[in-house]
Parts: sequence; C-alpha cells; structure tokens
Amino acid sequence: MNIGFIGLGNMGAPMAANLAKAGHQTRGFDVAGTTAEGVAPAASIAEVAQGADVVITMLPNGAILRQVADELIPNMRDGALFIDCSTVDVESARYAAQAAENAAVMAVDAPVSGGIGGAAGGTLTFMAGGSDKAFETARPLFDIMGQKAVHCGDAGAGQAAKICNNMILGATMIATCEAFALADKLGLDRQKMFDVVSTSSGYSWSMNAYCPAPGVGPTSPSDNDYQPGFAAELMLKDLGLSQQAAEMVDADTPMGELARKLYAQFVENEDGKGKDFSAMLPRFAARGRDA
Ligand code: NAD
Repeated sequence: MNIGFIGLGNMGAPMAANLAKAGHQTRGFDVAGTTAEGVAPAASIAEVAQGADVVITMLPNGAILRQVADELIPNMRDGALFIDCSTVDVESARYAAQAAENAAVMAVDAPVSGGIGGAAGGTLTFMAGGSDKAFETARPLFDIMGQKAVHCGDAGAGQAAKICNNMILGATMIATCEAFALADKLGLDRQKMFDVVSTSSGYSWSMNAYCPAPGVGPTSPSDNDYQPGFAAELMLKDLGLSQQAAEMVDADTPMGELARKLYAQFVENEDGKGKDFSAMLPRFAARGRDA
C-alpha cells in the first residue's frame, strides 16, 4: 500500500518505521522536520495525501487533529482510508470522521496503549471506532504496528474506550500509591503488602504489572527512579479528556475528577512533571493528612 504518516514524534516515528519495514511505501510529514527510518520525507500535508491509499496521523491533541484533517482530507482520493491514532477528545474524533465522510474517505479513530516501547516493538493495542469496512481495511496495518486491535463501535468509540480505560488507570494508581503509603506508616513491609494485594481483591494492573514501589513486583519505572514510562503529564491529559467527555454527556465521574485534580496538583504545583505517573507513591509517602 501507499501510506502517508503525519506526526513523526515519539510514537509516530517508530510506528511509521515499522510500516516501511513491512514493505509498505511510506511517506511522512512532521512540522518539526523529524523523519523515520525507511520513510520518505514529504514537504507538506497535501503531498502526503496525494496518491495515498491510507493516511495515518499521530498528533498531540484534538485542535491540531482538526487543523490537519481540514488540510489533509480534501486532498485524499475517494475511497482512501484515514486513521487517527492520536489520543484526542471524542468530539474532535467525530469532527474528523464527519469531514472524511463528507469527502467519501473512510475513517477510523484508533488511539493506542502500549507507549513508546509498544510503538517501537510493534506491540501496541489499538482501540478503534468507525465502520466495519474501514476497520477491516485498517486491520492489516494494526497487525504490523500492534498485537491487538479491538473494534469498539462507530466514530469516536476508540477514543471513548481509551479515556475510560485511562480514567480507571489513574484512579487505581492513586489508590495503590496511597495504600502503600498507609502501609508504610502502619509498619507493613512493602513486599508483604505486594504479596497479599497482588493475589487478593485489591489487585489491579497498577499493583500487579506496574508496581509503584521500587524493588517490588515486576520491573517498572519505579525501579528506574520513576523515569517515564508513562509520564504524569500524559496521564493528566487523558484524565482531562475523560472529564471533558463526562461533561459532554452529563456522566457523574467523581473518582475520575479527583484523580485529575491530584495529577494536576502533582504536575503543575509539585515536582511531578517529567516523572512517571507511578511517582505518586513517593509523593504520598512524604505527606501527612494535612499536607
Ligand atoms: P510527540 O509530541 O512526540 O509527537 C507529536 C508530533 O506531532 C510532533 O513530532 C509534532 O512536531 C507533530 N506535529 C504537531 N503538529 C503538527 C502538524 N500540524 N503537522 C504535522 N505534524 C505535527 O507526542 P507522542 O508521544 O508521539 O504522542 C502522540 C499522541 O499519542 C498523543 O496524542 C499522545 O497522547 C498519544 N499517546 C502517547 C503515548 C506515549 O507514551 N508517548 C502513549 C499512548 C498515546
């Protein structure tokens, strides 16, 4: 296939490189002038669109996605496929899907989980929204860039699944970290805490697979001085998107909102910026009830 890729950042560059490595003709564009291995550089968004069977975007936010979609989609051929893999608000995902439909272009919103390691290793999980035909057309490319793709529903459903997942993740990470900090103060050994909780009803991905306590559980960013991993500011972004979506549909999400507030405080007023999102553990451990 002829593939265009827009947004060759931390995630996009390795994803585009994997498509090129699999034998697809791949052209890429990034405003910052970044490139990716095996990917031919294009001079503009319009140039990426020309002759492309598929164009994939991996961009920072919904406002940029809307701008890029406005410039890209009118230049794509009828029946081509547009895949947005960025994490954005549900409304922007639906805006891009509508613009595609108006231009007879197929569209899938397909945010990912798996981070930079998953992008490089081709082991991402895709959560996709769009028509059956668009999803089936995209699937072989998801198989190259990732290990699992779930078709979640119509346009926006991929973003909806992503922000609901990450709202759970933010809240469970905070709950896990505050429980470790309480256990410390009760004199409970962190390894014993892990041994019990990871096999009891308090278990979660945050505890079992990504334990925030250094030296406990499988290797995670806590073992590397909380270098991200999944940065606290990216968690804050996703928690903001979940609250934006909750407002849009009048959903009551008090735990998600509290998690957003705590990550905002951590990133904006404390020392959380640039740290992994599991660095909530040393934060809680250093505090008392009135801190
Ligand atoms: P990044 O900032 O490294 O990359 C974004 C790229 O988009 C940059 O290179 C930037 O120059 C480019 N860009 C911005 N505006 C552009 C435009 N108008 N035209 C062309 N290129 C443009 O970010 P990233 O870490 O690669 O993340 C990309 C997306 O993936 C985000 O939505 C993020 O939330 C999501 N995501 C990231 C991770 C992660 O671990 N980094 C994990 C899952 C999802």
